[in-house]
Amino acid sequence: MLSVEVLTLFPRLIAVPLAESILGKAQEKGLLRARVTDIRDFAEGRHHVTDDSPYGGGAGMVMKPEPLVAAIEAARARAPGARVILLSPQGARFDQRKAAELARRTELIFVCGRYEGVDERILGFIDEELSLGDFVLTGGELAALSVIDAVARLVPGVLGNDQSAIHETFADDASPLLEGPHYTRPPEFRGLKVPAALLSGDHARIARWRRQQALVRTRARRPDLFGKLDLTPLDQVLLQEDLDAVPVLSDR
Ligand code: SAM
Repeated sequence: MLSVEVLTLFPRLIAVPLAESILGKAQEKGLLRARVTDIRDFAEGRHHVTDDSPYGGGAGMVMKPEPLVAAIEAARARAPGARVILLSPQGARFDQRKAAELARRTELIFVCGRYEGVDERILGFIDEELSLGDFVLTGGELAALSVIDAVARLVPGVLGNDQSAIHETFADDASPLLEGPHYTRPPEFRGLKVPAALLSGDHARIARWRRQQALVRTRARRPDLFGKLDLTPLDQVLLQEDLDAVPVLSDR
């Protein structure tokens, strides 16, 4: 069971996506508990002000430390063992390895910034900063949802078939491979055929084909990952063979 709490100025941005589909079902099954806290509830004064202009001047507003820290402390009191994560474009890059690490925890608290970001003094009250990548979002909510989604689906029982998470792209940390292509019915669509290996019913042939496609695809799309692979003798053979070639982007 994973318990997550999101501290945000825009609770609706979080509540609706978490209630849908697989994560909604995970909550119904008691595998995920999600709580959304409005930081504004911790702001004092009649106007519940949560931001102020930056010292030294400049554009935009900065999230004030008092309401944010009060919200973090209230969340920590509910979940004393929780890891507190600030979403930030300046944080460490979130990836599948991090998702797996966070999925081993039982309590996570996410702090979403807005505007120009948070007052720097907040950093003393959080455990780590995570970034989705080298781009700037308007707020941490979509980043928090992405992290929660990637982490929650690794919690045993959340996916209908736990094998889904084992075989997919980035799943194997020591040997990072992109997953190969997927097909479903019909067997032919506008003249485009499903590769014969997948229709063969021969499990060994299908496994061989999938491995080959994953290797070819990783080499074409992510040479950085391909370079880290420890190729087996069979992999070397598969890379030479034309089992039932499917064009990858770079071949088109
Ligand atoms: N002024 C900040 C800077 O230059 O680093 C950017 C602030 S951004 C407009 C507002 C908030 O969005 C941030 O506090 C953070 O919570 C969130 N955010 C923006 N980009 C993000 C990213 N790539 N990953 C995670 N969170 C991000």
